[in-house]
Amino acid sequence: MATTQMESQLDVARIRTDFPILHQVDDEGNPLVYLDNAASSQRPQSVIDCLSDVYEKHYANVHRGGHRLSAESTDLYEAARQAARRFIGAKSDNEVIFTSGTTMGINLVARSWGDTNISAGDEILLTEMEHHSNLVPWHQLAQRTGATIKAIPVTAEGLLDLDALPQVLTEKTKIVGLCAVSNVLGTINPVPQIVEAAHQVGAKVLVDAAQAVPHEAIDVTKWDADFVAFSSHKMLGPSGVGILYGKEALLDAMPPFLGGGSMIDDVALDHFTPAMLPAKFEAGTPPIADAIAMKPAIEYLESVGLSQILQHEQALAAYAHDLLINVPGLRFLGPGISEKAGIVSFTIDGLAASDIAAFLDGHGIAVREGHHCTLPLHKKLGISASVRASFYLYNTREEVEKLADSVKTTVAFFG
Ligand code: PLP
Repeated sequence: MATTQMESQLDVARIRTDFPILHQVDDEGNPLVYLDNAASSQRPQSVIDCLSDVYEKHYANVHRGGHRLSAESTDLYEAARQAARRFIGAKSDNEVIFTSGTTMGINLVARSWGDTNISAGDEILLTEMEHHSNLVPWHQLAQRTGATIKAIPVTAEGLLDLDALPQVLTEKTKIVGLCAVSNVLGTINPVPQIVEAAHQVGAKVLVDAAQAVPHEAIDVTKWDADFVAFSSHKMLGPSGVGILYGKEALLDAMPPFLGGGSMIDDVALDHFTPAMLPAKFEAGTPPIADAIAMKPAIEYLESVGLSQILQHEQALAAYAHDLLINVPGLRFLGPGISEKAGIVSFTIDGLAASDIAAFLDGHGIAVREGHHCTLPLHKKLGISASVRASFYLYNTREEVEKLADSVKTTVAFFG
């Protein structure tokens, strides 16, 4: 089947009316074409309204005051936690920790679980396609403990090399950290298969789901992952907030990560006892309004339907492939369209990624260029930078056509 025939079920014209930021033009009169969704998505009016509503009517610190506003704020904050729990299929609110985002969630696990469970001689297994957020916290853990980092290789097609798994996943492996979807290649990784293999050798698994939760229906219990981290700002919600899911027994056994207010049961001058879950991992005043506004973001995604969203993005990615494939010197990164999410990264021989992105920006098209926080992957691919167009539920076929036209104009201009 020609990839252009992949169908989208979404009423994108209607969806776009919910996103005020999309209806703007630049100084040259170019309408905004926002294709940088893997870096951060835009927000629907319901999320924007929720933020003002909290600040106008309900705002106070949570879990603290004995007054009405604090009770309202706390109820809304906990309702957002429940919405997140339902959204990812977690069993209990105790398994859903508010963080500042994916990065903090992974750091929390590397510090709290890692410092308790990892020692010299142990191995931490990552993949060659990880974001720096799922590399550096483990490097730091390895530096602290003397553990060794290994990686599942990426094949020439941009898939995880599962044939190499038996060599890198051994009795010494204590934790596996992998992304569910690569932020550069778009590869959708076989999470349940890797979780099963890891559990067979007694290793835990942390899934970096930053590029998965916004785009596909996730059920953490079906994955059977031990930890799952993701960010609100990539899934229509506010920035500065995210979720770490962890199996309750594991979180229960882990020491607190950050110390301070709200995470204690008792404090004396010379010791403290931590609070129960989830408060144990939520020290200090959280991003209250932002966490509350994750709920309308989740509800928006649910109302549109995650499987339709993924299908729509894949159809746009397929269309982009079809339109760009004959551009002279253009090379796509990552696997074929059937194995990836709505992310299209590419290089063009003889052209700097920064020049391409700047040229596209001149046509109102926002894409990301650079190494996308995946230096090891870019080094493996033998490139220093790439251009990434990443699609979401509000992007249209016309925008893909504008992208392709502008890329062709760029090549002609520099050629
Ligand atoms: N992991 C992946 C795969 C990502 O794409 C990103 C952000 O681009 C992150 C982690 C880090 O997310 P955040 O900056 O929200 O913590």
